[in-house]
Amino acid sequence: MNMEENIETLILEMSQKTGKQIDEINKLIDIKREKFSGLLTRQGATFMVQKELGLKKDIGPELKINDLQEGMKDFETRGNIKTIYPIKEFEKNGKIGKTNSILIEDETGIIRLTLWNDQIDNYNLTQGSEIKIINGFITSYNERKQLSLGYNGSIEIINKKEEEFEKISELKSGLNSINVLGRILRKFPCKEFESNDKKGKICNFQFGDETAILRATAWNEKAEELQKLEDGQAIEIKNAYTKQGMYGIELHLGYNSIINNSKKTVPKTIEILKENINEKTINQLTQNENTIIKAKIKEIKQGILYFNACDKCGKKSNNNICDICGEVKEIKKAVINIIIEDDTSEISATFFGNTALEAINLSQEEFEKEINTKSSNTIIEELNEKLKGHELKLFGYEKTNSYNNENEFNVREII
Ligand SMILES: [Zn+2]
Repeated sequence: MNMEENIETLILEMSQKTGKQIDEINKLIDIKREKFSGLLTRQGATFMVQKELGLKKDIGPELKINDLQEGMKDFETRGNIKTIYPIKEFEKNGKIGKTNSILIEDETGIIRLTLWNDQIDNYNLTQGSEIKIINGFITSYNERKQLSLGYNGSIEIINKKEEEFEKISELKSGLNSINVLGRILRKFPCKEFESNDKKGKICNFQFGDETAILRATAWNEKAEELQKLEDGQAIEIKNAYTKQGMYGIELHLGYNSIINNSKKTVPKTIEILKENINEKTINQLTQNENTIIKAKIKEIKQGILYFNACDKCGKKSNNNICDICGEVKEIKKAVINIIIEDDTSEISATFFGNTALEAINLSQEEFEKEINTKSSNTIIEELNEKLKGHELKLFGYEKTNSYNNENEFNVREII
């Protein structure tokens, strides 16, 4: 039976159940179609009339996306999730709310589903999943149709799809809605610019997974978000786009992009960079080049052992205020300067945070206990006794210290 015959059977059934003439029902269907300026298919209109005649009480008609018109309510529709946009926060009457836009498509069209507050938390939606909207309603926003959940509305996940990430080596230029999983390898200083009297910001960073490395650019709000993340952080980037740039394919993070810390397994920075890292002796080091060196601890240098840092981005904070993140919790972030030597030369190496703790073999708790109970001189003396002559294999790069203009080795990982 084709769809047209189906509809005729349904109309006949509606006529029998209500005692109305078939002509009369057809007229109701025509009026319904007229109400939606002829944009509604005959099938969609029939389902709506069926519902209005009280013949389908509990479940609304299932409509195709193309049939959804402003003013409709209590229907069902289904489709595949094409894009999930970033959650936006807003303030209304002193309360913080949030909203999330999601594009849904079927074989007839595409529509924006808008979820609010709890609705966002209630469903764990993933791109590519097939979902059914129960009791939806349609409004218009900026002259575009918008689907929302009505009172008692809900979403049924019919076919859940796990999130998929592209491999960086397979990216081509000109792609949209790209999802990638990898690590921030190195952030470069951010820049502010002005265009059309509006202030903008961009942050470039090196990003990589186990297949390749590329240059990425975060724009405006995404630049602000990226600034809060540390080198080496594993992240998921969604809805990015690619372009051909000076250094090959570039990944761009714009208004619709999402950046999340990732708990998925991502190779360590050194494994991602492995083909780009050479092992060198200290006298062979060149500025800014990622290198592996093998050296012995000659001396732990006197100096401060920690600074107050933002617990979110790891940058220096002051009285619980971080320049980037605002009001934050502070941690005592370890910083250790060690003179290391090999057969060719010696250099001062700087270890930060977890890498510093690893070098001196203490947990954050043990470290804080030390600095709360002993003077820094005593701690450094004890560390020298414990660690002098220890061999370390380090991954990092040489750079010039801007305070004393001396070269030092910035340690990224202890191998
Ligand atoms: Zn911060």
